[in-house]
Amino acid sequence: MTLIEKLRAGTPTLSFELFPPKNPAGWGTLYSTLGEISKLASDYISVTYGAGGTTRQKTVELVARIQGELGIESMAHLTCVGHSRDEIGDILSSLEKSGIQNVLALRGDPPKGDSRFKPHPDGFGHASDLISFIRQNSNLQIGCAFYPEKHMEAASLDQDLAFLKLKQDQGAQFAISQLFFDNENFYRFRDKAAGLGIHLPLVAGIMPVLEVKQLDRFKELSGCVIPPRLVEFLNNGSEADVVNRGVEFATMQCEDLLKNGIAGIHFYSLNRAHSSARITENLRARGYFSVSKKT
Ligand SMILES: Cc1cc2nc3c(=O)[nH]c(=O)nc-3n(C[C@H](O)[C@H](O)[C@H](O)COP(=O)(O)OP(=O)(O)OC[C@H]3O[C@@H](n4cnc5c(N)ncnc54)[C@H](O)[C@@H]3O)c2cc1C
Repeated sequence: MTLIEKLRAGTPTLSFELFPPKNPAGWGTLYSTLGEISKLASDYISVTYGAGGTTRQKTVELVARIQGELGIESMAHLTCVGHSRDEIGDILSSLEKSGIQNVLALRGDPPKGDSRFKPHPDGFGHASDLISFIRQNSNLQIGCAFYPEKHMEAASLDQDLAFLKLKQDQGAQFAISQLFFDNENFYRFRDKAAGLGIHLPLVAGIMPVLEVKQLDRFKELSGCVIPPRLVEFLNNGSEADVVNRGVEFATMQCEDLLKNGIAGIHFYSLNRAHSSARITENLRARGYFSVSKKT
């Protein structure tokens, strides 16, 4: 069964996001994380695409290894940043030659210090343009990003929703959300999307919190809302116990999403599987992500 077939079948998918490390120590951590994740019977693993530099090539290598050596379906992220159409065409060919079937098509962020994204002169200015190119030039299954609490640059949630509709119209087949902690915002977005004719399976991006001080950074980088009850929950006990309370909060968040018909849970694992593995086990103990149902 392909990823799109799984998503359309209505059984929630389980996935993990990793990034290609910059140094040998990072690769050691990544391989032990992959060992842990491979025991979790996930539906797919995705690998991010760097803002520039040498790790970009590693994205293709890593997704190929995950698929070829571990036998786990994988998905490469790909951004428009710094690439011409021809370069993007070459990357798509390498992915297909490596047996990869899935790509998450993104615009990418402006470079640090710039407030506006500047496209390559022969490249793409929006994820929707990249999606259209991928659809016309490959057989890859295409995912895209969405922002239940609005993308930082968007003038309004309605404008952002209209551009998500454009991504669907250009060929995106599913969408993964930016991290969020308030499910009500997700459900509001989902209802509005349905009202606009957006029928993409919407997968929830979940970030297990490891430290209270991370929250300010999440807010700064992604614009996500930090609900006061999350801060209270994390602070309710000793500092040494914050990781456990982060696992507990994310377990409750995921359980509520699964009860409310979410298309999938995608863990922002940051190359460390410990918390997301524990959340997955908690959810399995509550009857979700049954291993026997996986194909
Ligand atoms: C699940 C997920 C995975 C990610 N993985 C990576 C990664 O691997 N590497 C990386 O560098 N970044 C990654 N990002 C971050 C992403 O690149 C940034 O959030 C980026 O700023 C926007 O990308 P996008 O694909 O949503 O862009 P777009 O859909 O192009 O949207 C960007 C902004 O432009 C607006 N917009 C969209 N289309 C148009 C249009 N036609 N005309 C005018 N305005 C428009 C939107 O409202 C939004 O404000 C990821 C984000 C998510 C949610």
